[in-house]
Amino acid sequence: MFPPDYRMQKIMAAPEVARREWRLDVIRARVDGRIVSETDEGWDTARKAWNLAAAQRPPVVAFPETTRDVIELVAFCRSQGLRLAPQGTGHGAAPLGAIQDALLLKPSQMRDVAIDASRRRARVGAGALWREVQSAAAEHGLAGLSGFSPEIGVVGYTLGGGLGWLSRRHGLACNSVLAADVVTADGRLLHVDREHEPDLFWALRGGGGSFGIVTALEFALYPVRTLYAGALLWPQERAAEILHAWQAWTAGVPDSVTSVGRLLNVPPVREIPEGLRGRSFVLVEAACLVAEGDGVELLRPLRELGPEIDTFAMLPPTELGALHMDPVDAVPAFLDGWLLRDLPPAAIDALLEAAGPGSGTPLHSVELRHLGGALADAAPEHGALASLDAGFATVTINRVMNSSQAALERHAAIVRSALAPWEAERNYPNFAERSFNVSDLFSPVTCERLGRIKTQYDPKDLIRSTHPVPTVQVQV
Ligand SMILES: Cc1cc2nc3c(=O)[nH]c(=O)nc-3n(C[C@H](O)[C@H](O)[C@H](O)COP(=O)(O)OP(=O)(O)OC[C@H]3O[C@@H](n4cnc5c(N)ncnc54)[C@H](O)[C@@H]3O)c2cc1C
Repeated sequence: MFPPDYRMQKIMAAPEVARREWRLDVIRARVDGRIVSETDEGWDTARKAWNLAAAQRPPVVAFPETTRDVIELVAFCRSQGLRLAPQGTGHGAAPLGAIQDALLLKPSQMRDVAIDASRRRARVGAGALWREVQSAAAEHGLAGLSGFSPEIGVVGYTLGGGLGWLSRRHGLACNSVLAADVVTADGRLLHVDREHEPDLFWALRGGGGSFGIVTALEFALYPVRTLYAGALLWPQERAAEILHAWQAWTAGVPDSVTSVGRLLNVPPVREIPEGLRGRSFVLVEAACLVAEGDGVELLRPLRELGPEIDTFAMLPPTELGALHMDPVDAVPAFLDGWLLRDLPPAAIDALLEAAGPGSGTPLHSVELRHLGGALADAAPEHGALASLDAGFATVTINRVMNSSQAALERHAAIVRSALAPWEAERNYPNFAERSFNVSDLFSPVTCERLGRIKTQYDPKDLIRSTHPVPTVQVQV
C-alpha cells in the first residue's frame, strides 16, 4: 500500500479543486511507465487529448507499460484519494472536462496487436489504434469492425458501441467482443468473457468505460479482402436532388452496403487535395461488401446523376480509413450526433434548410449515416448496447477554426432542432460528445442493470469515464 502522508500544498490556482502535490516518488518507484506532473518537462504534451478543444488539467498523467503498472496506479489512486480516468487517444475527451480530480491514465505504450487468423480473432492492448489492427488483420484477409477514422482507439470506441463501414452487415463492434482483461477499482485483474464475470462482460459491451480499466480486448474478425468503396461528389447546389435520391436508394440496398449522405464544406487546410479545398459538396460515401460488378450495379442509380468526382474502386479494408477524410493529427474538434427513427423526404428538406446551400452554416460536415441491417438485431447474447433502434444517425464533425466552438454548437443545435420530429428516443454513446445522463442512452432496464454492475465493481466511483454510470443504492 502507499503511505498516506502526501504533502498538502496548493500548487496552482484552480478555483474548483484544491491542487495537491502527490507522492509521485512512490509511484515512480513502482511502475515502469512514465509519470508526468505539472512541474515536469513534457507536461503540456502529456496532458493533451487528440481533441485539442478539450482543455485537460489532471493533477498527474501516467503512461503505464504493463498491466502490472495499471494495478499499481489503481492502488496509488485509491491511497491518495484520487480518481482515475483511462483515455486511449482522447477522441472522446470533450465530455470529460478538465479532469482535475483524477489521474489521467494513457495506455499508449500498451499497443500489442495479435491476430489469431485460424480462429479469426484479435487480441489488442488498451492503447491500440484501429489503423494498427486493420493493417495486421489485412495480412490474413481479415478486418475488424473499425469506425470511420482509423486513428480512433479500439477500446474507447468499442466500449461505446462502435459504428463503421461494416456495421450494417456485422453490427456494432461491441457485440463482436469475445473477452477483455480488466483491472477493477479494487485492483484485481479479471479475464472477462461469457463464462467469467458475465455481468461485467455484458456491461463493457456498449455500456462505456465506467466499470474498470480495460488492459486488453479480444474480438472477432471477419473475412474481407476487398470491398467496393468510395465517394461520389457533386457541387452542393445539387444537395436536394442528391440527398433525396440517396435516401430513396437506401431503402433498397442489402445489408452488405453501408452508406452516408453528406453535406461537406471542405475546410481550407493543406492536407485536403487542392481540387476539394475550400469547396462545398454533397456526397454519397459507401462501402459495399460485394464484387466489383455487383457494386457497379448497386451504384448505378446514383452514378446516373453525374457526379463531378467518383472515387469508387475495389479497395482493401485498410484503405477505408481515408474514405471519410477525418482529421488524422490532433486538432481542436467539435463533434455532435444523434439518432433518427427514420428519414422521410420531409426530414431531408428540414436538414437542407438548416445546413444546406444558402443556410450560412459554419459546420464543415453534416452527415446522415444509414443504419439498420445487423445494427437493428438485438440478439440475446449481445451486450448493454444490443442494437441501435434507429434508421439513421446524424453526425457533424468539425475542426474548430475560424468559427468559435460556441458558434458550431449553436448551429449543430439548429440542425438538431430541425430534425427533432424524427429524433429517436435515445442517443448513441460514441456520438454523445457532451456529458450525457445514461438514461438518454439506454432503456430504464439497461440503466438499472448497469447501475448495479457499477456498484458491484466500483462502489466508490474511482473510475471516471465519458458517460458515467452512477452507482445505485443496494437494498439490504
Ligand atoms: C474524428 C472522429 C471520428 C469518429 N468516428 C466514429 C465512427 O465512425 N464511429 C463511432 O462509433 N464513433 C466515432 N467517433 C467517436 C469515437 O468512437 C469516440 O469518441 C470514442 O470514445 C473514441 O475512443 P478513443 O479511445 O479513441 O477515445 P478516448 O477519448 O481515449 O476514450 C473515450 C472513453 O472511453 C473510455 N476508455 C478508453 N480507454 C479505456 C480503457 N482502456 N479502459 C476503460 N475505459 C476506457 C473512457 O471512458 C474514455 O473517456 C469519432 C470521433 C471523432 C472525434
